Amino acid sequence: MKYDAAVIGAGPAGAYCAKILASRGLKVLLMDKEKFPRDKVCGGLISAKALELIQDDQLNKLLSKIRPNPVQKIILTCGQKEVTKKKDRVLGLVVKRKEFDEALVNIAADGGADFVDHCEYITHRDLKSVFEIYTTKGTFFSDYLIGADGAFSKVARESKLRQRFLKWEMGFAVCSEIPREMIIEKNGIEFVLAKVLGGMGWVFSGNDFVNLGVGGYATEANRIFQCTKRLLAERLIDKNSHFDLKGYFLPAGGRKRPIARDRIFLVGDAAGLVDPFSGEGVFYALKSSQIAADTIENNKQSKDYEQTCYKTLLKEFRFSALLSVFLGDRNQILKKGIEMESMEAFEKILTVPPQKGCYKSIISRIIKHGISPVSPYLWLKSLLLT
Ligand SMILES: Cc1cc2nc3c(=O)[nH]c(=O)nc-3n(C[C@H](O)[C@H](O)[C@H](O)COP(=O)(O)OP(=O)(O)OC[C@H]3O[C@@H](n4cnc5c(N)ncnc54)[C@H](O)[C@@H]3O)c2cc1C
Repeated sequence: MKYDAAVIGAGPAGAYCAKILASRGLKVLLMDKEKFPRDKVCGGLISAKALELIQDDQLNKLLSKIRPNPVQKIILTCGQKEVTKKKDRVLGLVVKRKEFDEALVNIAADGGADFVDHCEYITHRDLKSVFEIYTTKGTFFSDYLIGADGAFSKVARESKLRQRFLKWEMGFAVCSEIPREMIIEKNGIEFVLAKVLGGMGWVFSGNDFVNLGVGGYATEANRIFQCTKRLLAERLIDKNSHFDLKGYFLPAGGRKRPIARDRIFLVGDAAGLVDPFSGEGVFYALKSSQIAADTIENNKQSKDYEQTCYKTLLKEFRFSALLSVFLGDRNQILKKGIEMESMEAFEKILTVPPQKGCYKSIISRIIKHGISPVSPYLWLKSLLLT
């Protein structure tokens, strides 16, 4: 069977790309090496800006099935100090990724994509007008090949777009899902300003569970594990209960890398599109998939995909990385009397898409106020001088 597009990997990037292409009349193959539904190490926070991107009737059907927790409250915590803000809008949904990803795959399949799970992509051959794709479930043929196969993308490697991300280009995060009644939680999106270089912790309240974790630079992996253990120990009601911690890598955006060639496109984590400051990846997985699908549908070139992606995302990723460096030790934030500015920044990160200059506005606020002796200036100064 020959397909118009073969999508490798059925995370949010792959499933959404398959969904869009199938809805536009293309014959689409979607495959994943795992048996679905499969677990995925993730905080499970789907930001308001991600929801806005995929908002339609099908999504609403999806959401009603997986019972997400719509959250309107942000909490910033640092040791005993805590600030809270409740908004009159939903800032994000807390979901189990196993359920969210399966629901997206079902939408793609309902829309006409052929989904094959437990099917690992091995390599491909370019027969010039078509790709011959070798998998553990046989050979497939397709005009386009889309690598949505995550941070350690085999499609990137086999197509020689990239060998692998270097350790310093990666973030690392560790998390656990705990039944809600077993943990001290605040029914919101809680960021815990832990003492982890370039990172932070979180406690996200789901419907009947809580996702707790810590992320930071990959070079700090051991500290991140220790920090997560401490946070978990602090929050568990029964100190004798035990929960497994799982960690995984996040390829940070901010560098221009080759992410497409001829009829091959990398999307989501495979393309290295994770927000360096917040660690958010789902929005960028969905956004890059949308750009790839538009490029294919409009018969444009792979370089158009690369250009549009970088035009939309690169500047913002760079501002985000800059903020990450400014706030290296983020537990300074609440100590410096800048909690309201911080709160506003976190709210923006959840709600304002990159094309509207989310990080640009946060950074320019810092710089603008830097010329007058008001608190944001003190914020920046204190962060830089301590
Ligand atoms: C601990 C942690 C917490 C996080 N929390 C959040 C959060 O709260 N919110 C957020 O927005 N982001 C979060 N992220 C980032 C987010 O999880 C990723 O950015 C997102 O999953 C990227 O989606 P994707 O579809 O590109 O890749 P993935 O979700 O990684 O999906 C890739 C898929 O490809 C499949 N695959 C891999 N190789 C092959 C192969 N050879 N053949 C076939 N299939 C293959 C895999 O099985 C997998 O299903 C977190 C990351 C970590 C590590």
